[in-house]
Amino acid sequence: MARSLDDLLAEGVAGRRVLVRTDLNVPLDKQTRAITDDGRIRASLPTLQALRDAGARVVVAAHLGRPKGAPDPQYSLAPVAERLAELLGTPVPLAGDVAGEDARAKAGALGDGDVLLLENVRFEAAETSKDDAERGELADRLAALADVYVDDAFGAVHRRHASVFDVAQRLPHVAGRLVAAELEVLTRLTTDPERPYVVVLGGSKVSDKLAVIEALLPKVDRLLVGGGMCFTFLAAQGHGVGRSLLEADQVDTCRRLLAEAGDRIVLPLDVVVAPEFSADVETAIVPAEEIPDDRMGLDVGPRTVEAFGRELADARTVFWNGPMGVFELAPYQAGTRGVAEAVAAVDGLSVVGGGDSAAAVRQLGLDEAAYGHISTGGGASLEYLEGRELPGLTVLEDGGEG
Ligand code: ADP
Ligand code: MG
Repeated sequence: MARSLDDLLAEGVAGRRVLVRTDLNVPLDKQTRAITDDGRIRASLPTLQALRDAGARVVVAAHLGRPKGAPDPQYSLAPVAERLAELLGTPVPLAGDVAGEDARAKAGALGDGDVLLLENVRFEAAETSKDDAERGELADRLAALADVYVDDAFGAVHRRHASVFDVAQRLPHVAGRLVAAELEVLTRLTTDPERPYVVVLGGSKVSDKLAVIEALLPKVDRLLVGGGMCFTFLAAQGHGVGRSLLEADQVDTCRRLLAEAGDRIVLPLDVVVAPEFSADVETAIVPAEEIPDDRMGLDVGPRTVEAFGRELADARTVFWNGPMGVFELAPYQAGTRGVAEAVAAVDGLSVVGGGDSAAAVRQLGLDEAAYGHISTGGGASLEYLEGRELPGLTVLEDGGEG
């Protein structure tokens, strides 16, 4: 049996150095580098606060964006350290490196209840390396910073990364509060969900999400597809999609899935199109099967919102991942807003998964409390629902006396 954070707290952590892997991968404004949505930082607080209250010396490891395996000021966790300090109400110094000299010095200087943030773990190429020995070397240095490891980075548990997987093999380990809460909800989605069970998928990465569609099809009553991924399905039905997002090499798979699904896969009826990816151009609403060659679909249209709303109205279990359109730009928000409202109104369990979907809920000013659960992990929750083994969770399963 995996041990929990409460087991660790009961055992006593006062004066012990605890390495906490958190998911602080927040969206930043491209120009100002200001945090545009701090949801993931706030989601990390319960575990960090519990450890501080218990007198632990907390060393936080996290990643931000996709730096190329070397220090890059653009991806520094500095803005995150600042926000985390505000939210915790205590200074959060940022180490100048991941697990080097400065990290060792600063970790060694921590007092009981203090918090240190290590610099972006992806500044080390070894973090994401496929080579066990390379990751192991970084994991050794990370493990040397602490006596215990807590994994609270739900958004990264599907990664076999040094700070997620290898380090857990080197220290006694437990799952944090966020990971535990996420798992509890996902288990409810996979274990005898109340019906009708409706899944709504959108977002941009079709190839990422086809496997989950495949795995979910036999389990769900309806699968509503919007967002950038719907165009590959529309193309599979033989429709032209103009300049919309299209993954040509996935068309055959989509065609097979449509054939298998019968009427369980529901596609958009209408689409908001524009001549280019911009907020300052003239838009139009066209039937989904009549997208002009020189236009791109950037949101689902009002008839689609209505149709998806009808499918969601009597649902008792809903999982929604992926915005219905380019919600970051005002002219293409209505689809995501409409579906988000329909999901919020569900009488039953409603789960929102995915970084951008969660950000959309907040950015559009919707009431977070109206959802049963807003997951911090997109890829991780999808892989869990697919039934895949998540390395970051598997490694926590033993007693963790390691
Ligand atoms: P999540 O993080 O919730 O899992 P994804 O990362 O898969 O979602 O997708 C989010 C992105 O999909 C958003 O940035 C959004 O702008 C984009 N998107 C949604 N609809 C479209 C579309 N029609 N064309 C291009 N991009 C889209
Ligand atoms: Mg995303």
